[in-house]
Amino acid sequence: MKIIQTDNPNIYKGFEKVGDVEEPYFTKAIDDFRFYKEYRVVWKGEEYRYWNPHKSKWALHVRKKEVRSLLKSDISLLYLGAATGTSLSHLADVVKKGKLYAVEFSPTSFRRLKILGEKRSNVFPLLFDASRPEAYLDLVAPVDLLYMDISQPNQWDIFRKNLEIFLKKNGTALFVLKERSLTLRQKPSEIKKEIEKEMKEHDLSILLKYDLHPYHKDHLTYVLKQR
Ligand code: SAM
Repeated sequence: MKIIQTDNPNIYKGFEKVGDVEEPYFTKAIDDFRFYKEYRVVWKGEEYRYWNPHKSKWALHVRKKEVRSLLKSDISLLYLGAATGTSLSHLADVVKKGKLYAVEFSPTSFRRLKILGEKRSNVFPLLFDASRPEAYLDLVAPVDLLYMDISQPNQWDIFRKNLEIFLKKNGTALFVLKERSLTLRQKPSEIKKEIEKEMKEHDLSILLKYDLHPYHKDHLTYVLKQR
């Protein structure tokens, strides 16, 4: 398959369908480590790792040029809800010289995430509850980018606490809102309205807002800039 570099030098796009995915994205493989048994292609002597949107929301975020432009190779990122590290394994290929702090509280998921940390020197797995950021205060330096993908009823609260402590002034944040997880009593439109009010009150301007259909239903991503 023909592969081309996007406007981010570490993110690539393919020109053939992969399964049901019309617009496949890739990162360049730096070794033989197949973190999630991902499909690989060789183009002009280089090997590329298929970034599967069914398994990683970041495979969809990087379709947005505004998001690709945030992923400079030397940034620091705090990732809340890192799970087993599928998305992070690709981000580690992109943010090559930066620091990726990965918070996850499930010991089962953390076992895989820890393996990623052993293989990639830019990934720092942290087994912590993200609702108590004071517990990892000494382990995380202020970051350029904050990413929140925790589908819990208190997701806004978790995000806000981490934002206040760790996001650098003028930093950017991606907040993935699970529209149906917050409370069954509220309609998605009411939840959105409430969250957007909170964003305003916390001096965050919305740069971009998009859904993750058809791969991840009821998820809305906000790209936020601190004013
Ligand atoms: N971002 C991942 C990816 O794209 O590969 C998927 C994240 S999954 C939707 C949410 C993760 O957040 C789960 O692994 C869950 O264990 C974790 N989680 C939920 N509540 C948490 C908390 N309070 N602190 C840390 N992790 C939490």
